[in-house]
Amino acid sequence: MQWGKLNIAGSNKDQKQGDAAINDPATGAPIGYVPAMSAETVRSAIGMAHDSLAGWSATVPQERSRILRRLSQLIAEHAEDLAHLLTAEQGKPLAEARAEIGSAAGYFEFFSEEARRLNGEIIASPRADSRLLVTHKPIGVVGAITPWNFPASMVARKLAPALAAGCTVVLKPAPQTPLSALAMAELGRQAGLPEGALQVVTGDAATIGAVLTGDPRISFLSFTGSTATGRLLYQQCAGTIKKLGLELGGHAPFIVLPDADIEKAATAAAAAKFRNSGQTCVCPNRFFIHEAVYAAFLQRFLVEVDRLVPGDGRDPKSTLAPLIDQAALVKVERHVSDALGKGAKLTRGGRRAPIGGNWYEATVLENVGPTMMVSCEETFGPVAALSSFTDLDQVKASVNASQYGLAGYIWGRDIAMLLKTAESLELGMVGINAIHLGMEMAPIGGVKQSGLGREGGHVGILEYCEPQYLLLGV
Ligand code: NAP
Repeated sequence: MQWGKLNIAGSNKDQKQGDAAINDPATGAPIGYVPAMSAETVRSAIGMAHDSLAGWSATVPQERSRILRRLSQLIAEHAEDLAHLLTAEQGKPLAEARAEIGSAAGYFEFFSEEARRLNGEIIASPRADSRLLVTHKPIGVVGAITPWNFPASMVARKLAPALAAGCTVVLKPAPQTPLSALAMAELGRQAGLPEGALQVVTGDAATIGAVLTGDPRISFLSFTGSTATGRLLYQQCAGTIKKLGLELGGHAPFIVLPDADIEKAATAAAAAKFRNSGQTCVCPNRFFIHEAVYAAFLQRFLVEVDRLVPGDGRDPKSTLAPLIDQAALVKVERHVSDALGKGAKLTRGGRRAPIGGNWYEATVLENVGPTMMVSCEETFGPVAALSSFTDLDQVKASVNASQYGLAGYIWGRDIAMLLKTAESLELGMVGINAIHLGMEMAPIGGVKQSGLGREGGHVGILEYCEPQYLLLGV
């Protein structure tokens, strides 16, 4: 189908038999349709990616770099259409969608540069009659599965390093938001990606997942999504001993120390919490505010909360996105009622927004305790769970007791204290007086049950490579 100046090959404006609808979360109306592919079609997509591997991996890095840079430029040229498409299928405010498209272009630009720096190593030989060389070879065909909350940047974060390394890719985008991925794949074709190097498959997750994990022609499965699905895919990959990259769920703490700049901390806390209505893997899920500054923090935080306007993302006044679907709303309701049932205080929100649809009001809970659902698992909604503390060691113990270890935030002024506290937290990423962790040059990822491996940064391209050690007798 056509979207502005974008040709979204692989999607239909009108429903064909068996097609799945892509619904606008703001209106509930379908904006397009994609086919439900059979296992056989997915296998043939893998076959095409496999056939194109030899040619693509043999291109010189400068050529791959040139194509990826062109793709980055095409994304920038079509940014406005892509942002509107993203808002239409995902619901986030246009300003957030524009930022996400900028981030997607940034991933292709960064990895177009990394493609040219995939240097090997010569190891100092212990023997006069030999030389030890290490090169980085593309791992092969990559299976990529992405979630709906960042339909452009999560896709770019996988495609850019994989293609830069010389891998070919079969991508399964989330069923709620496949159009951004299909549009990017079409721009990739226009940028010069060879036939077969990037395949996008749509349809039933379990069917496609079983094929991608079971097929020996896939060498690496890169997944972003929930820990539960990651665990299942891990098991399914055992049969073919595939390498896995897993970017899974988070449960980020936001810690405010007594010497923090409260104005900045509270403003940043609200921005991080309510971006995409709390549907981000790195958004703070539990807030630990030192007792001495709790009242001041709350006062400033509520000012930010009261400014949020739920509404259609295309309306420039809207700053609070709808949740992706009714199931997400029900989960948020369950978390809030569980917290209230266990003694939390409701300070703001706590119900579906009066405008209806998939909106939930920006919600603030106080006196949150450790056994409440909001303290134990990702809420993935606009709910800020606040508690005060006096003993930082107890906060650290509580953070480290979680099975999740993706991201966290700490605010204060004593640099040594901030650094030592950040180092003591079992988290893959810590924002220290800062919240914008997701940058293409940084290694993104979590520890414990938040994932395996890293995306982005120089290590990001190495995830898609196998080192080969060559011993040369001379
Ligand atoms: P999800 O339910 O795990 O789904 C993610 C993707 O996996 C979707 O495309 C989904 O398709 C697919 N999937 C589900 N079951 C599958 C199976 N058996 N085989 C193959 N694919 C399968 O997660 P989500 O709700 O979409 O995304 C939110 C989660 O992603 C949160 O936990 C969030 O923290 C996490 N996340 C993590 C990061 C990070 O960088 N660590 C970034 C963004 C999001 P269906 O929808 O059709 O089931």
